[in-house]
Amino acid sequence: MSNSYLNTNYDLLPGSYLFSTIAKKIKEYQGTHENADIIRLGIGDVTTPLIPEVIKAMHKAVDEMAVKDTFRGYGPEQGYDFVREAIVRGEYTARGIEMDPDDIFVSDGSKCDVANIQELFSGDTRIAIPDPVYPVYLDSNVMAGRTGTLQADGHFSEVTYLASTAENNFQPDLPKNPVQLIYLCSPNNPTGTVLSRETLQKFVNYANETGAIILFDGAYNCYIQDETLPHSIFEIPGARTCAIEFRSFSKTAGFTGVRCAYTVIPHELSKLRAMWNRRQCTKFNGVNYVTQRAAEAIYTPEGWKQTQGVIKGYMDTAKVIRQELTAAGYTVFGGEHAPYIWWKIEGGEKSFDFFDRLLATCEVVGTPGSGFGPCGEGYFRLTAFGDHERTKIALKRIKEKL
Ligand SMILES: *Cc1c(COP(=O)(O)O)cnc(C)c1O
Repeated sequence: MSNSYLNTNYDLLPGSYLFSTIAKKIKEYQGTHENADIIRLGIGDVTTPLIPEVIKAMHKAVDEMAVKDTFRGYGPEQGYDFVREAIVRGEYTARGIEMDPDDIFVSDGSKCDVANIQELFSGDTRIAIPDPVYPVYLDSNVMAGRTGTLQADGHFSEVTYLASTAENNFQPDLPKNPVQLIYLCSPNNPTGTVLSRETLQKFVNYANETGAIILFDGAYNCYIQDETLPHSIFEIPGARTCAIEFRSFSKTAGFTGVRCAYTVIPHELSKLRAMWNRRQCTKFNGVNYVTQRAAEAIYTPEGWKQTQGVIKGYMDTAKVIRQELTAAGYTVFGGEHAPYIWWKIEGGEKSFDFFDRLLATCEVVGTPGSGFGPCGEGYFRLTAFGDHERTKIALKRIKEKL
């Protein structure tokens, strides 16, 4: 085989994946410390099992598949009406947002959706992405050849970065250069901070004035505790003519292994909506029936109550992390409306050095902020997805030993 046929954009991707580097470091430590009792606060995955209401719906759907009259084969590529309608009712109508079930495209994950959506845009589209942020937006555009090359400062030459740091209260400025695609993530992974109504309005106005499209990732919207904070980009006047929203049941309802999400393209964006429909119909064959019944069950009164209970459990852990670190004299952000705590490292220590020191002194693992973008340097991500009691032990060690 000749390499000349390969997509060389892949060669531009930064060397090793953040989490494999971390896994290697932990393994090395365990190799030299036989009795290590490592507590993982770096985990970006849910740990609480599915709620009873979801399990009940899945069992029922499985039984339907066993009977000739209720068996289902291929479903609609966009998702069954029952789940699209439940999403509209539970997520949008309930918050006073008008939404048409036809604008909801059910999928097997937001990771794929946010990565696939860039296929609808030309190769020379200029993009803006928050810094730091979930790495998928950048990497999928690197693969598509839109980003230029990696500079010494950790930035790609053709990407506009939206710096989000304590200095600007995690509310990024508008792009400094003209861009046609703007990624936003709120509540943000990794900083755990929320974009304010004013910030979102500023971006929506910019997009409508310049013709740009906002790709809004709301994977953590259900963790927002303050009802006055924006949960959806579509709460912002003008968003329907410039924004696409991505939502997932992964963090909302523990579906990281089950796989179900949805993308919302309002009919005001009719061309993009038609293109996405065509894309999905060509390359995707829908989410399985059992899973869609599981997603629907979240919106029953009992399902909703149980779901909120699980979220409350994670947020109780987030609160403990915030409180204990603050009490120990550290500066932390996030953790109030998201399961992520963004810990400021003092004294100019690099986030990977801090990772090593935290592991060596406390046997606690987190995620170095620099793995999420250059502006993440000097920060460290802890998550509230771990076991509550083990997290408390980790915090005690930090207080006593770090
Ligand atoms: C976890 C996560 C998702 C969800 O991805 P799925 O593929 O739906 O599991 C999307 N965006 C962000 C920022 C995330 O952290």
